[in-house]
Amino acid sequence: MRDATGAPALRVSQVLGPVTALGPGRRLGLWVQGCPLACAGCMSRHTWDPAGGHDVSVERLARVWRRGLADGYDGLTVSGGEPLEQAQALAALLDTADQVRRDAGRADADLLVYTGWEEPEIAASPAASLALRHADAVITGRYRAGEPTRLVWRGSANQRLTPRTGLGRRRYGPHLDRRTDHPELQVQVTQDAVHIIGVPRPGELSSLARDLTARGLTFQENTWRP
Ligand code: SF4
Repeated sequence: MRDATGAPALRVSQVLGPVTALGPGRRLGLWVQGCPLACAGCMSRHTWDPAGGHDVSVERLARVWRRGLADGYDGLTVSGGEPLEQAQALAALLDTADQVRRDAGRADADLLVYTGWEEPEIAASPAASLALRHADAVITGRYRAGEPTRLVWRGSANQRLTPRTGLGRRRYGPHLDRRTDHPELQVQVTQDAVHIIGVPRPGELSSLARDLTARGLTFQENTWRP
């Protein structure tokens, strides 16, 4: 995809930071727009429509990433939506993000990608494999509401965290089998939305929404109900 000026661009749902609940440390979080996988129980139904969100050039995203690195961010998490639906733009983004971290002397800042695709689906797609060539780690697999898990950063037991580089192995190796009963959930409030960031356990979103309502917030809609 290209933006109005012809520059490489991604269809983006939102960009937030610092994100601390989707990967190690303080991170830039980028949620792409558009997902055809339609997992039952998905908490991000607002990211399904490929016509939603807005086009953001890779160059602009690179500027945000550069600022994040200057602020000491430990990594970039790309989620969605389905990033591999925009494989060419994702490749441009991660190529650029890799170059930016090197130029900034921050080759220690990692690139993590969430995708609903399974590893064999990625391996069978040259475009997807190319897109992920700079990803230090990937979390793969559809969300299955019937397979809850305590594994950190994963929503269901089938989802796999796979390091793909030396940095990925160093940073994510200790977390491959790490479990928690209390996964971190972040709440960030922007002008028109309350963003709940992280991988909630079943029922947690509704309970959090009830808490926030009790404190005076009124929800017009939420993203996890059909
Ligand atoms: S859980 Fe992820 S892969 Fe599944 S429908 Fe939602 S955004 Fe798409």
